[in-house]
Amino acid sequence: EMILALETSCDETAAAVVKGGTELLSNVVATQMDIHEKFGGVVPEIASRHHIEQITIVVEQALDEAKISMEDIDAVAVTEGPGLVGALLIGVNAAKTIAFAHDIPLIGVHHIAGHIYANRLEKDFKFPLLSLVVSGGHTELIYMREHGHYKLIGETRDDAAGEAYDKVAKALKLPYPGGPVLDRLAHEGHDLYDFPRAWLENGSYDFSFSGLKTAVINKLNQLQQKQESYRVEDIAASFQASVVDVLVEKTYQAAEELNVEQLIVAGGVSANKGLRTALEGKFEESQIDLMIPPLSLCTDNAAMIGAAASIEFRRGNYKDLTLNANPSLILE
Ligand code: ATP
Ligand code: MG
Ligand code: FE
Repeated sequence: EMILALETSCDETAAAVVKGGTELLSNVVATQMDIHEKFGGVVPEIASRHHIEQITIVVEQALDEAKISMEDIDAVAVTEGPGLVGALLIGVNAAKTIAFAHDIPLIGVHHIAGHIYANRLEKDFKFPLLSLVVSGGHTELIYMREHGHYKLIGETRDDAAGEAYDKVAKALKLPYPGGPVLDRLAHEGHDLYDFPRAWLENGSYDFSFSGLKTAVINKLNQLQQKQESYRVEDIAASFQASVVDVLVEKTYQAAEELNVEQLIVAGGVSANKGLRTALEGKFEESQIDLMIPPLSLCTDNAAMIGAAASIEFRRGNYKDLTLNANPSLILE
């Protein structure tokens, strides 16, 4: 089947065409990063205004690049949540209009299911699997025994990993989004500062990053007060070492305990070089198959929404035209 997918949950206006759930025919992303950079974060109202300007353009471009027309499309899929409500509504309304005008099924997709299914555009899943979801708003370990079935094993109790990156970058007066910048700096620095690792209670697969964020900010204040010189690169390297240590160790323990066939990584922070390298090292000797998405599919895009929608399409899990955006949609 051929699915046209839309994604507008945050600051990327995206459309893609996905064939059979695994084959990417086009993947168009209009990012608003440069617009929000001025404000040091995403401004919801501005995001919505840009989505409505861009949505039709990216849909046309996605069809063009896939070299097909609307008549070839079997279903339209859209991120229904979670995300910014005003941003989500633009995609949801566009998808409903397309479904109505062309009389094709409408499929609602959870944004995080999308991040997970980005991996399926590269290689097929092997169940049971564990997914480490690390993005701007989520840090979760999700167990899947089959397609479209999600069980939460652990999650962050405060900040998401990407959020911690963005906040620490802000404290260092680095541009938004902070993740890619800190990642780059970390590779030029050394883990000199012994920042805390939040292991939490024995056996817990939850995460916590706000203590680490505070520790970094306190260290910066201390250094500045004492007028001691420091390198931003070393702060970045020390921060990243703490984030990566906890993510990799907890993920590995959960994957072993749950006896999974595959570990798949998902979300914007899976673009992190330090995390990718550390996971590759940790899982090298293990029987568990490690899958990390290509960089182009780590951050928000619509191809991942099309890939996740394929499962619902085959199940006949369609939405009617009362579909609404749900900013706090639950995955399980
Ligand atoms: P969610 O998916 O939870 O709704 P989101 O869609 O805003 O949130 P994504 O687009 O998946 O999040 O990812 C963006 C996040 O990824 C930002 O916090 C960004 O700083 C982070 N990020 C991107 N690249 C890197 C990197 N190389 N290292 C660390 N973090 C990164
Ligand atoms: Mg984003
Ligand atoms: Fe996302």
